[in-house]
Amino acid sequence: MGSFWHPMADMSAVSGHEFVITAGSGARVTAADGRDYIDATAALWYCNIGHGRTEIGSAVAAQMARIASYSAFGDYATVPTIELADRLAAMAPMADAKVFFTSGGSDSVDTAVKLVRRYWHLRGSPERTHIITRTRSYHGMHLAGTSMAGIPANREGYGALGPEMHIVEWNDPWSLAKEIDEIGAERVAAFFCEPIIGAGGVYAPPEGYLEEARAICRERGVLFVADEVICGFGRTGAMFGSDRWNLDPDVLLTAKGLTSGYLPMGAVFVAGAIAEPFWSAPGFVWRHGYTYSGHASAAAAALANLDILEREGLVDRVADLQLPMRAVFGPLSAHDHVHEVRAGTGLLAAVQMRPEILAEDATLMPRLIRAIRDRGVLTRALADGSLQISPAFVIERQDLQAIADAIDAALDSVGSVRTSRPSVDVDLLPDTTRDEVRRPTSRDAELLANIPPHHSP
Ligand code: PLP
Repeated sequence: MGSFWHPMADMSAVSGHEFVITAGSGARVTAADGRDYIDATAALWYCNIGHGRTEIGSAVAAQMARIASYSAFGDYATVPTIELADRLAAMAPMADAKVFFTSGGSDSVDTAVKLVRRYWHLRGSPERTHIITRTRSYHGMHLAGTSMAGIPANREGYGALGPEMHIVEWNDPWSLAKEIDEIGAERVAAFFCEPIIGAGGVYAPPEGYLEEARAICRERGVLFVADEVICGFGRTGAMFGSDRWNLDPDVLLTAKGLTSGYLPMGAVFVAGAIAEPFWSAPGFVWRHGYTYSGHASAAAAALANLDILEREGLVDRVADLQLPMRAVFGPLSAHDHVHEVRAGTGLLAAVQMRPEILAEDATLMPRLIRAIRDRGVLTRALADGSLQISPAFVIERQDLQAIADAIDAALDSVGSVRTSRPSVDVDLLPDTTRDEVRRPTSRDAELLANIPPHHSP
C-alpha cells in the first residue's frame, strides 16, 4: 500500500498499482513501462498545446529566477500577472472585461458564485441569491460546485449541500424559464452553463439552446455565467464557446487551457458592467482572493501558452478537426455495446456504452479502458458511461484514427459485436448533436400561467 491518495479513484484497486507517466511530447506520453501511448484526453482536458513544450519551461524558469511569485492582495502585483490580465481582457468575449485569478476551475466556480451574489447585494438586491445549473453539468469539486452538480453521484454522502441551488434540464431552455419564474426572477442571481457539457458526457448544445437560454436570462435580469473551464481557449473551435455561440456572458470561468496545465491556474472574466460596483466604490474591499491568485510563474506559463496557441493557429486547427472527429469516431456506434457516439463540435468526442449493459456489468468500463490502454491509448470513463476523447490540439489525424482503432479492437475484446446497424448518420449528423432543443408546449404555457409572481420554493 502506498501513501498517495488519488483523486476520483477506487483506492482499494489503485494503491500500489499506479500507472505512472514519466514523459510527454505532443499528443503522446511515455509511461514507466517504457511504452509510448496516445493521450486521447490531453490529461484532464487541459494539455491543449501538447506535452513537452520546453518554451513554457523556459518562461517559467526565467520568471522563477527573477521571483517565483508574490502576494497580489491589496496593491501588490507582479509583472506577468498584470500583463496576463490585460491580454485576457483584450481576448474576452465581453465588454470591458476585468480578470480575477484563481488556482483552478473549482476556485473559479466558487469565486463566481460569491461574485454574482455579492454583485446583487451591492446593487441593492440582496435577495438575488439563487443559482441555477443543469442536469449533466460539472462545476468542480468545491462545496459550491458540488452543490451545483448535475451529476447525481457527485452530490452523494455530504449531508445538506449549499442552499438555493437549482438544477434544470440540460437541453430545455423552457425548463430554465419555468424554474426562474417559479423561484421568482427577483431572487435568482445567475445561471451557470457549460457551452459544451464536458465531464457529464460531452454533450454539445442542441441547436438554438444556448441562444434561447441566454435570451431567457437577459429578459429576466438573471446573470449568465459561462463555465468554460473545458471549452475556453480553443476546445470548441473558437477561442471561447461564448464566441462560437455569441453568448456575451456576464461572467466567464476558465482554468485548464489557460496554461494547458503546465502550472495550475484559473481566471474569472467579469464584464465591466458587473465589475463596476466592486471597482467604483471608494473604501470598498471585496474580501475574496486566494494565496495564489495571480501567481507570477503560473502567469508566465499562461503567457507562453497563449503565444504558442496563437502562433501555431491551434484554434483554427481544432475547427478543422471537428468533422474528421465525427468521421473517425462515428462508425464505433456500429458496436452493440455502444449506445451513442457524440462528435463533431470542437475537438471532443464521447463513445457512450449502453446503460443497460453497464447496469449488468459493473466491470465493463474498467476492462474496456484497460483493453484500450493495452492497445496504446489512454482514456477514461465519464459520468454517463462514455469514453472521453479530448486530445491535444496538435494531434495528427492518423493518431485520431489510431484512437478509434484501439477502441474498436478493445470493444471486440470485451465481447461487443458489430451489428448490422448502419454506421449511423455519421456524415449526416448536424453540427451539434442529434438532440433537438425542446420547444415550449401548451402544457408549459399552462404551468407558467399558474405560477404566482412571487412564488417561494
Ligand atoms: N468546471 C468545469 C466545466 C470543469 O470541467 C471542471 C473540471 O473538469 C471544473 C469546473 C473544475 O476544475 P478543477 O478541476 O480545475 O478544479
